[in-house]
Amino acid sequence: MFHKILVANRGEIAVRIIRAAQQMGILTVAVYSTADETALHKELADEAVCIGPAPSKLSYLNAQAILSAALYTGADAIHPGFGFLSEDAEFAKLCEEVGIKFIGPNAKTIAIMGDKAKAKQTMKDAGVPLVPGSAHEVTLEEAKNLAQSMGFPLLIKASAGGGGKGMRIVQNADQLESAYLAARNEAKAAFSHDGVYMEKYLSNPQHIEVQVLGDKYGHVIHLGDRDCSIQRNHQKLLEEAPATLETKLQSSIREAALKAAQAVQYENAGTVEFLVQDNAFYFIEMNTRIQVEHPVTEMITGIDLIQWQINIASGLPLTLKQEDIQYRGHAIEVRLNAEDPSKNFLPSPGTLSFIHLPQGLGIRFDSALYQGYTIPPFYDSMMGKLIVHGPTREAAIKKMQAALNELILEGMNHNQSFMQSVLKHRAFMEGRFDTTFMQRYKEGLLSDGT
Ligand code: ADP
Repeated sequence: MFHKILVANRGEIAVRIIRAAQQMGILTVAVYSTADETALHKELADEAVCIGPAPSKLSYLNAQAILSAALYTGADAIHPGFGFLSEDAEFAKLCEEVGIKFIGPNAKTIAIMGDKAKAKQTMKDAGVPLVPGSAHEVTLEEAKNLAQSMGFPLLIKASAGGGGKGMRIVQNADQLESAYLAARNEAKAAFSHDGVYMEKYLSNPQHIEVQVLGDKYGHVIHLGDRDCSIQRNHQKLLEEAPATLETKLQSSIREAALKAAQAVQYENAGTVEFLVQDNAFYFIEMNTRIQVEHPVTEMITGIDLIQWQINIASGLPLTLKQEDIQYRGHAIEVRLNAEDPSKNFLPSPGTLSFIHLPQGLGIRFDSALYQGYTIPPFYDSMMGKLIVHGPTREAAIKKMQAALNELILEGMNHNQSFMQSVLKHRAFMEGRFDTTFMQRYKEGLLSDGT
């Protein structure tokens, strides 16, 4: 087992990883930017190293500085969390080269899955159904030709995409060229790679994903599914586990995810994402890291995913068998963001003047917040995640409503009451929703929740 783990991240996920490691008796090293001098992850870790100024490019994305910090402190592993360097194959390779274990899959798997066009081809070869479209990057000419046979609406997506960036809906032939160029430009700015591919635009899909775990000995299992259809601007806001699906469809999706992970001999934790519409499912991408929404899977399986990531990376076999995975009840997670829902979710950082957290059986709050903490404006707007677990979906919804009602976060704009409106919306409560939920009901949710 590792002696010391450096956590190459910040915010709630850094705190979550530090706690998991400390509970395993492993020493931890935090890295922080000058904007994070007062951050909780820096205080909780056994050691902390400043890796640069506020902009992520100069600190949390600065591979050299992070590796130097790991070597300097004698860390034998790096946990990248999510975002930042977590899906950077080059960084994973650099870790391998300097003899520090990267807690995640190997660089080759990250590279294949990080290129969404390549990932689709790999999945196609493994017999996993894909959204119809191009299984490779396209030039403008190819895009125009393909659009004629595919028809509209369609989606142009960045191969390196993530967080909904580099994605454009095209309704008709006139919009194609400008959407193509806009997607390329956005991808170039965000990911330094401007390759794009095309997909049929599904009009009302559910976003369903499956959690997988694999070890270096070729043993791969899945831990069930999550529904992440409640999104804003293609970014998730609320997730639940398990997804509410017809039993046969649910087991086909879980099996397909397992097949996908086995096809690449997947090692460590990963997520296979699908869109589901009209009783059919289609692979969209695989994320080769821990996800923001991992707690809902932990709540219904009782399995600590971060600790398993650490076990697996240290070379221990995955001793969980598929038949050991039991699903208990229902879990829901709400992302609490410092943002203004009425201004198209504009980020709204500030100082937390007062915090009160709901408590009780099956209630969890993952965050890096404390009273008096000032949220720096440089990073993601997510402040924390409220997660609840109940015996049924209905019970979990009621528990989340009560927990959100009790939660107090004062000092900045955030989406707490907006999310309460989502929880109380009839279509949500009745399980009649898909990724168009927000677009369809946003006005009502912003005013009175109907
Ligand atoms: P990212 O990696 O940027 O998060 P994804 O491919 O995971 O991008 O898609 C994010 C979200 O965008 C999905 O959950 C879904 O809401 C929407 N989306 C993606 N592809 C399609 C598609 N072909 N048709 C309709 N919606 C899509």
